[in-house]
Amino acid sequence: MGNLNSHYDVIIVGSGPAGLGAAFKIAQNSKQSVLLIEKKKISSGGLRNDCKQNYTYPVGFPLEHWGKEQADELLKEVASHLNPKMETRLNIEKYVKRAQKLGVDILAIDQAHVGTDKSAELIRGLVNQLKELDVTVALETEVKELLSNDKALILANEQTISFNHIILGPGRADYDWMQEQMDNLNVAYSDNIVDIGIRVEMKEENYSIVKDYYDPKILFPNKVRTFCTNSGCAHIVREKYKGYYSVNGHSLSRDKKANKLVNFAMLKTIRLTEPVVSGQEFGKILGEMVMQLTGGSVIMQRVGDFRLGQRSTKETFNDDLYDFKNTLSNAVAADLSLSMPAKILRDIWEALKQLDTIVPGVLHPSTILYYPEIKTYSNKPQFINDNFMVKEGYYIIGDGAGTSRGITAAWASGIRAVNDILDKES
Ligand SMILES: Cc1cc2nc3c(=O)[nH]c(=O)nc-3n(C[C@H](O)[C@H](O)[C@H](O)COP(=O)(O)OP(=O)(O)OC[C@H]3O[C@@H](n4cnc5c(N)ncnc54)[C@H](O)[C@@H]3O)c2cc1C
Repeated sequence: MGNLNSHYDVIIVGSGPAGLGAAFKIAQNSKQSVLLIEKKKISSGGLRNDCKQNYTYPVGFPLEHWGKEQADELLKEVASHLNPKMETRLNIEKYVKRAQKLGVDILAIDQAHVGTDKSAELIRGLVNQLKELDVTVALETEVKELLSNDKALILANEQTISFNHIILGPGRADYDWMQEQMDNLNVAYSDNIVDIGIRVEMKEENYSIVKDYYDPKILFPNKVRTFCTNSGCAHIVREKYKGYYSVNGHSLSRDKKANKLVNFAMLKTIRLTEPVVSGQEFGKILGEMVMQLTGGSVIMQRVGDFRLGQRSTKETFNDDLYDFKNTLSNAVAADLSLSMPAKILRDIWEALKQLDTIVPGVLHPSTILYYPEIKTYSNKPQFINDNFMVKEGYYIIGDGAGTSRGITAAWASGIRAVNDILDKES
């Protein structure tokens, strides 16, 4: 990146969907100078993955910050940038009826899917549009810290840049950086929630609902839910976090040959109360335990072994009963119950049994359970207004501030912060 100015009216940190949402809104509605800073080579955060976009409230919108009307309004604006092609949703009534009998909810949502192989193209297009709108986009540029007394930040290369307004959208992964900055700025925050769960992988014929409903959103008792279903050309990956791996699922665009496998997460939300401790730390400790047990990886176990109360081994894993190969090749065949807290395991297993009644086949002995899938909720800063301001001129948005849990809501949170700046301008 060439030389940056020493002052911009508005600085946006992070080019995930939250930062992009803010950047488009300010660039299209104001003459203020805008700098978008991203530490990575390619914009941008979670958009650069599978990129499923949910367009139905409340998916991705934490209820404490969002009402339906406001979310619906902003979702239209998000769609005008991302141009979603909605997936079809057919014949789900029979599943809904079965679910109702069990006290389980199936949400009918509008969703579009880009695919991991196509998302880079989408992002490049968005960044080019921003440049045409005169936004200075600084990729591979890291913000080291925010100054506590001046409206200014220091980059990793030691340049100091001042601003009138700053919008911080660092995402979840950099929660500790965000905590340091909030400490600098004297902004109070808490972080007591975390989602812990497993990723389930099976043959598509054993989870046939995906033919009718691309990413079924199913809510079970005890705060367990399905999350991020992938089919078509679907595979599981291991993502590195600080001190552990979490599994995650991907699928490629429809252009790629289908592998006839499906994966989805079953997550349980944990809210830690008295004595309140960090959800991030709790998740990390569980992840580290799996690292210990697997020699530095993640666990996988076939449902057949799990049911018999025996660990999976390399041999049982490839038994003739087990009729498909795990897509995450470096997971270690082992025993889920040795590493997962009992309450989480019990609630998730109950939910899986209910799911097996709603969509018979999920619990085929060959189905694989991978652990851990950990979704941290990040920090919840104390906001001083409804548009995510934490201090005069400072906003924190997106997943990193607990104002969203997905691409579309993150984008919408960026719009909301900018609306606040625009209100002040007029
Ligand atoms: C593998 C994966 C797949 C996902 N798939 C989906 C999906 O299909 N659908 C969906 O709705 N959600 C998905 N999510 C969640 C989704 O990505 C997030 O909800 C969303 O990206 C949050 O947006 P954000 O802008 O708040 O943060 P992010 O997208 O995380 O962006 C934050 C950005 O800030 C940058 N940054 C952080 N600190 C600094 C710093 N100090 N200086 C400069 N830059 C910095 C980071 O590099 C990053 O690019 C997925 C997440 C992951 C990890």
